[in-house]
Amino acid sequence: MAPAKDLQFHRIHEESNISEFDVFIAGSGPIGATFARCLVDAGYNVLMVELGDQDTRIPGEHKKNEIEYQKDIDRFVKVIQATLSVVSIPRSQTIVPTLGPAAWTAKDPDQMWITNGRNHFQGEHNNLGAEAVTRGVGGMSTHWTCATPEFLKGLERPVIFTDTAKDDAEWKILYESARSLIGTSETEFKHSIRHNVVLEALQQAYPNRGVKALPLACHRLPGNSPYVQWHAANDIYGDMFDESAKHKLNKDKVKRGYFKLLTNTRCTRFELDTGATAGHRVGLVEVQDLLAARLVSESSSPEIDFYIKAKAYVVAAGELANPQILANSGFGATTDRKVHIIPNLVSSLVMAFCQIALLQVRITYHNTIQHENPWWKAAVADHKKRFGGVDPLPIPFQDPEPQVTIPASLERPWHTQIHRDAFSYGEVGPSLDSRIVVDLRFFGMQEGVPENKMIFQKGFKDAYGMPQPTFEYTPTAKHAEETQRMMNDMTDVANKLGAYLPKSEPQFMTPGLALHLGGTTRLGLGQHMGKTVANFNSQVWNFSNLFVGGNGTIPTPFGANPTLTSMCLALRAAYKIAQSLKDGFSPALDSEAMHPTPASWLSWTTDPNDPNFPIHAREVHREI
Ligand SMILES: Cc1cc2nc3c(=O)[nH]c(=O)nc-3n(C[C@H](O)[C@H](O)[C@H](O)COP(=O)(O)OP(=O)(O)OC[C@H]3O[C@@H](n4cnc5c(N)ncnc54)[C@H](O)[C@@H]3O)c2cc1C
Repeated sequence: MAPAKDLQFHRIHEESNISEFDVFIAGSGPIGATFARCLVDAGYNVLMVELGDQDTRIPGEHKKNEIEYQKDIDRFVKVIQATLSVVSIPRSQTIVPTLGPAAWTAKDPDQMWITNGRNHFQGEHNNLGAEAVTRGVGGMSTHWTCATPEFLKGLERPVIFTDTAKDDAEWKILYESARSLIGTSETEFKHSIRHNVVLEALQQAYPNRGVKALPLACHRLPGNSPYVQWHAANDIYGDMFDESAKHKLNKDKVKRGYFKLLTNTRCTRFELDTGATAGHRVGLVEVQDLLAARLVSESSSPEIDFYIKAKAYVVAAGELANPQILANSGFGATTDRKVHIIPNLVSSLVMAFCQIALLQVRITYHNTIQHENPWWKAAVADHKKRFGGVDPLPIPFQDPEPQVTIPASLERPWHTQIHRDAFSYGEVGPSLDSRIVVDLRFFGMQEGVPENKMIFQKGFKDAYGMPQPTFEYTPTAKHAEETQRMMNDMTDVANKLGAYLPKSEPQFMTPGLALHLGGTTRLGLGQHMGKTVANFNSQVWNFSNLFVGGNGTIPTPFGANPTLTSMCLALRAAYKIAQSLKDGFSPALDSEAMHPTPASWLSWTTDPNDPNFPIHAREVHREI
C-alpha cells in the first residue's frame, strides 16, 4: 500500500524499535486508559497519543485531590471552568456592543471571527451551548465528579444480547470489573453527619424510590480522615507509567507489553489501506507533533506531520473528537462528501443527554444533636467542646459533604445527585457556610432522533486544526414533557430538605452542560447496522481494525453519568482486539454473532491475588 502523503514515520518507531505497534490509541482519558491497561497487561504493545499536555504530577490524576480544593470545594469551580473549552459558539455571541467604535471589527456580520470555537454556522436556537472538551492527560477525568452509577436496565442500558439472561450476565461482569478498575464505592461518606441527615430525610420521604449513597470513584484516606482521594484515569493506568513495573508479568506469566504515551500529539486522520482485500482496513494514522508545529509556519508539513503504523486503531478521544478524527479521515459526517464510508457518523445523533436542572437549598438540621450513633454523638460533642462558643452549628467544620442519589426508574426517568460538589455552575456565595448547603442536580434523558445531529463543514477548522462541529439539537416533545415532571420532582425533593438559596432557585442549565453527549459513534446490533457506527465489540461496521470508545458509543438515552458504562464497553472491545491480534482481523459484518466477554479476560480486576489487581489506596505523601 502506498501512503497518500509523503511523510516520515514518527521517531517513536525507531526509539521503541517497533515497526508496527499492536494497537494505536487516540486519547488518554479514562476510556483510552481502559483499552491501554487491558491490552498492555495482556502483553501487547500500545502507542497512545494525546492532544494535550500532562498537567498533574501523576499522569491523569484528579486535580481535586489538592489540599487547597479539599479544604474549599467551591474554589475548584474555577479550575473546571478553566479546563473546559466550549466547542461551538454562535456568531451572535462574538459581537461586543461595548467595543469602542475606533476598534477594528468586521463590517459584514457574516464574516465575524471564526477562531477558537466561534462558529459562523452555529444557530443559537439549536446549539448545545455548554458542550465542551478538556485537553490534557487524563481528559475530563482530571476534574470529574466521580459519580459512577449503573445504567437502568430497560431504558438506559444498551442491549448487547437480545436474550435477557445473557444480557444481564454480560452487564453484571462488565460492571463489576469497571467498578473495581475505577474504584467505586458507596460507603466513603457513611461517617458524615450531613450525608446521613440528607439520606435519612429522603429515605423517610420516599421509602419506595431506592434512595441511597451516590456511587463515587474515590476512597477515604486512612484513620477516618476528613479527606477522600478522588479517582481518575491514573487509577485505571495503575502502575503503567512506573519504570520498575515495565516488565511485570501477568497471572499467565506473560510480560507486560511496551507502552508509550506521546503528549502534545494530535491524531489527525486515519489512512485507508487501499490494498485491503475485504471491507475497509486502516493502514496508517497521521499525527502532528504540536510542539514542533510551533516552529513551523505551514499548518501541515513533513517536519511536523508523521505516520504511525499499527495493527489495530482505537479512537478514544472523547465523544466530540472521535467523530472529528473520523470525519477528518474522509469517512463521513462532512457536508462536502456524497459517499460516507461510515454513513451514520453523527448523522443520526442520539442526543442521549439531557438538560440538567439545578437547585441549592439550605438544609434544616433538626435532631442532629440527639442522634444515637456513637460516632455521630462523639463528633458533635468534640466540635461543641472546641467551638461551641463561636459556632452555632452542631457539625464539625470538616464533616464530609452529603453524597446521595435517588436512582432513575421507568416512571421517573431522570438521574439525581443530591450532594455538595464543585461543578462549572452552582457557586455558593462566600457569605454562606457550605455546611448548610446542598445541591440538587437532576439529569433528564433525550432519546435519539435523526434530526438531532452534529455536522462538520468542509474546510472549517477548530483551534486545533480539526473539523469544527456544528450542532443541530431540538428537544423532542417526550423530552420536554419529562423535564417538566423532573423539575416538579426536584422542587418536591428540595422542599423535603430545606429552603431555596437566594439566586439558586430551580433552573434549567444550558444544553450540553452535563458534558455527557451520547450517540456520536453509536453501537448497535446487526439489524441496526444501517443506523449505527459500530457493533457491540466497538468495531466500526465493515472495518477490520478500527474501534471506537467513549460516551459517544452509547446508543440509548441516559440521564446517569456514563463513564462507568463506557468503560464496560471498552473492556469488552479490548477483548475483541486481543482476540483479533491472535486470530486475525476480519471486517465487522451484520451477520457476526456477538459473544459474552470471558470471565478470564476480566478476572484481574476482581481477584485481589492477581498481580494486576487495581490498587487505589496509594501513598499520600509524595516526594517531588
Ligand atoms: C465537571 C465535570 C464533571 C463530570 N462528572 C462526571 C461524573 O460524575 N460521572 C461521569 O461518569 N462522568 C463525568 N464527567 C464526564 C467524564 O469526565 C467523561 O465521561 C470521561 O472523561 C470521558 O472519557 P473519555 O476517555 O472518553 O474522554 P475524555 O476524558 O474527554 O478524554 C479524551 C482525551 O482525548 C484527547 N484528544 C481529543 N482529540 C484528540 C486528538 N485529535 N488527538 C489526540 N488526542 C485527542 C483530549 O485531549 C482528551 O484528553 C464529568 C466531566 C466534567 C468536566
